[in-house]
Amino acid sequence: MDQRTAGAGLITDSSLVTLYGEFTLTNNRKVRHSVILTDRDLIVQRLGSAPLGRNKVVLSLKDCVGCRAYREDDKADPAAHFAAYFYPLKRRWMSSGVSRQRLEQCFRLAALQDPRANLEEAEKWARAVRERSARQQHLGDGVLQSKLSRPCRMMLLVNPQSGKGQALTLYNGHIQRMLHEAGIIHTLIITERQNHARELVRETDLSQWDAVVIMSGDGLLYEVINGLLERSDWEEAIRTPLGILPGGSGNALAASVHYYSGASPVMGEELLVSCGFLLCKGLVSRMDLVSIHLSSSPRLFSFLSLAWGFVADVDVESEKYRHAGAARFTVGTLVRLASLRIYRGKLAYLPVSKDHSNKDGLPNGLTVCCNNQESSPTPTFAPSNDSSCNTFHNSCHSNNSLKVRQTESTPSRRAIKSLPGPPDSLLVPLSERVPANWVVVPEEDFVLMLAMYQSHLAEDLLAAPDASSDDGIIHLFYVKAGISRAALLRLFLAMEKGAHLATNCQHLVHTKVRALRLEPLSPKGMITVDGEVVEYGPLQVEVHRGLSRLISG
Ligand code: ADP
Ligand code: MG
Repeated sequence: MDQRTAGAGLITDSSLVTLYGEFTLTNNRKVRHSVILTDRDLIVQRLGSAPLGRNKVVLSLKDCVGCRAYREDDKADPAAHFAAYFYPLKRRWMSSGVSRQRLEQCFRLAALQDPRANLEEAEKWARAVRERSARQQHLGDGVLQSKLSRPCRMMLLVNPQSGKGQALTLYNGHIQRMLHEAGIIHTLIITERQNHARELVRETDLSQWDAVVIMSGDGLLYEVINGLLERSDWEEAIRTPLGILPGGSGNALAASVHYYSGASPVMGEELLVSCGFLLCKGLVSRMDLVSIHLSSSPRLFSFLSLAWGFVADVDVESEKYRHAGAARFTVGTLVRLASLRIYRGKLAYLPVSKDHSNKDGLPNGLTVCCNNQESSPTPTFAPSNDSSCNTFHNSCHSNNSLKVRQTESTPSRRAIKSLPGPPDSLLVPLSERVPANWVVVPEEDFVLMLAMYQSHLAEDLLAAPDASSDDGIIHLFYVKAGISRAALLRLFLAMEKGAHLATNCQHLVHTKVRALRLEPLSPKGMITVDGEVVEYGPLQVEVHRGLSRLISG
């Protein structure tokens, strides 16, 4: 069969044929196949008696992580081979969902007697497949910063204790092979103790690495980010592309990265394969970080969440259900529901302004309804009719409930600076009142406060469905005291599909903010940052838009 007949018989769309060949499969030398590479696909058709169109496989180059050429050890055989690795979305056995499943296409080239010439031909194919699949990536809409350079030198940190203690097994079972297929050179580092990764990235010569990837839960990435920001060259260091592979029990960022890619929800090893695929594709976007000031500890940086009350308690108490893997949060939630507590505290925040770039703008969609700002001790803000004012759900804030404490007529611009890391321009010292353009929440009795800057709180908890990694937004949720156990359970069940905001729960408030302050009044309690326990006491936070780099889809 020549190229003309192939073109007439096999190509059903208008994409350009760039290579055509006829090869046998590496594992079956009996049947020949025609192989066509177009700009978009690799099309493999079994030649012989089967009618055209049957036995034809069209593999999208979007799903291809790599392609390599090689010769086998057998010196008597002049053949060379090329293998292309695909991870297409496939329907799961007995379920309606789809997940990425590995598919290898391996061809044997033996047209010539000269092994070198066969290898050259195989290399030509491998290069062409790689180049075209790299071109087939979806280029994002401005969020994309870059692509990982090739060859890529990757530091891969694995926490052998995370989750059920299975991270190394998962690495051996999936990730090692995927990285090899994608031509990514990686150095595996197994962490030995808490803060090992933090110290490593603080001290390492970062020019040796094109990316730092963690395979663990969110806790290990928290260490890496804080380690990078403790360096004197933090500004450069925090631009190192960071990747995440779910190997722990709290894999919220991994679930978020998967969610941002637009794929339907998956868990466990399917989530790992999806994140491995996205890592191999190597698209790098920006990621927001949130700086956190505690009353006496040094400033911290967070990429995921800040929790107080119910969620923080579940985070901590569910440690003992670690053997249950990701289900530990479900178990923890049920246990804590049985002994529901109320937490006292003061909460204030700086809403996202309408003009996102306007640092000093009025709260989004709010208008000043008190004319006499000078004389009123508590000028009030009320929601305007503007449709963009959707930041206050469920009309929890009616009339007098959005109070702004009067301090100065303009917020203090005194930046809090503690090196290294970027200065915080929105915060005043914790000992001072919050600036005048902040909103003080009137309630002081809460069941939970949760600030999220990624979509997922856990693999199966879609807390902030419209979050993205670099929107410069903190999604602030709080649940006021008075909610029944049943209603709170309903919220968490709805959160599995990200539907909690549609439940019309009168106790739940969601608002988008750029900074917030929390002053717990209950003498005892838990506060967690990215799932890790931090000092309990007053704190305030500010988002730093796009400060870090994340390998995502
Ligand atoms: P998980 O989601 O299972 O909790 P994490 O990645 O959050 O997994 O890790 C949990 C904790 O383990 C983190 O505080 C991390 O710093 C710590 N850690 C990292 N490496 C080790 C190790 N080798 N042994 C014990 N703890 C470790
Ligand atoms: Mg965000």
